[in-house]
Amino acid sequence: MAPRKVLTGARVVLPTGTVTDGRVIVDDTGRIAGHAAEGAPALDLSGHWIVPGFVDIHNHGGGGASFTSGTVDEVLTGVRTHREHGTTTVVASTVTGDMDFLAQRAGFLSELTEQGEIAGIHFEGPFISPCRKGAHSEELLRDPDPAEVRKLLDAARGAARMVTLAPEMTGGIDSVRLLAEHGVIAAIGHTDATYEQTVEAIDAGATVATHLFNAMPPLGHREPGPIVALLEDERVTVELINDGTHLHRAALELAFHHAGPDRVAFITDAMDAAGFGDGRYMLGPLEVEVKDSVARLVEGGSIAGSTLTLDRAFKRAVTIDKIPVIDVVRAVSENPARLLGAYDRVGSLEAGKDADLVVLDEAYDVKGVMRKGEWIVQPAAARP
Ligand SMILES: [Zn+2]
Repeated sequence: MAPRKVLTGARVVLPTGTVTDGRVIVDDTGRIAGHAAEGAPALDLSGHWIVPGFVDIHNHGGGGASFTSGTVDEVLTGVRTHREHGTTTVVASTVTGDMDFLAQRAGFLSELTEQGEIAGIHFEGPFISPCRKGAHSEELLRDPDPAEVRKLLDAARGAARMVTLAPEMTGGIDSVRLLAEHGVIAAIGHTDATYEQTVEAIDAGATVATHLFNAMPPLGHREPGPIVALLEDERVTVELINDGTHLHRAALELAFHHAGPDRVAFITDAMDAAGFGDGRYMLGPLEVEVKDSVARLVEGGSIAGSTLTLDRAFKRAVTIDKIPVIDVVRAVSENPARLLGAYDRVGSLEAGKDADLVVLDEAYDVKGVMRKGEWIVQPAAARP
């Protein structure tokens, strides 16, 4: 059991607004007990923000380790790396692989889900378009046959949270329906769909745009394509990779303002190099070169995931994109928690939820991370 903690003096961001000189009381079960003043010894966090722990629904690894191919220890290293950057809830994303391999991987990751280390599995591929394959092996791509999709869901034993697919391919719409029926998010991505095909997929139950703008046809005024269909529909949450490489600042701001703060989820789409460094890595079966923190396929030069951590996406959103802190909190915590159906436990600093929180300084750099009431990164003020 974690000892009881009282944090005071910080600007505390709640769903209803920011409380200056606010308090967060953490009980000994690791949950938030409330915000009321009381006499217990407190940790003074004046000059800081306290925001909810970040929730990343699209993440392939970090700390030199891959969620797609790593051992248990390696996956936990990746999870730990992202936790140190404020991500207290992470969904592990796979990349395209052989179906048997993916099914076996799903079983492996389902155990880590049961243990509470990860918050489930996101299958990115193999049901995606060869025209928009990005960093996925073309020869392993396949149509989204509902029977095949079903195989992966079964192998994941309830841990599948999201499947990215190209709805215009044979079986695409039926697969979207199947996913929706099973309570798994159908995400549209790595797609060559038209505007009309995208609308059909949303009507069938798709609710997420996988890294909007990336790996889909660009917006044209006579062929608006998936981007406009996904942005305009209130049922869809759009993933955005806010690393300054995947999206121009102006494109990010356009999407953020058009969808509104309740329909954006910042993701990292991170690969092994996140929180680690430049060098050569493998992304599934493909070789990737990371240079100046930008990951590209050795062959062809496609952008291959990011080296982003959500704390950097947060800081960039506030300082460069000038998005209000409370809206950034929605994009990194609240909205993705709701998508996962986990908002009753995480995603905000309300009483009764897990004490998952991030302490930021005035420059929006991480100074503390707490998960379930335990410090992952201890603020300097709290060190003995
Ligand atoms: Zn990805």
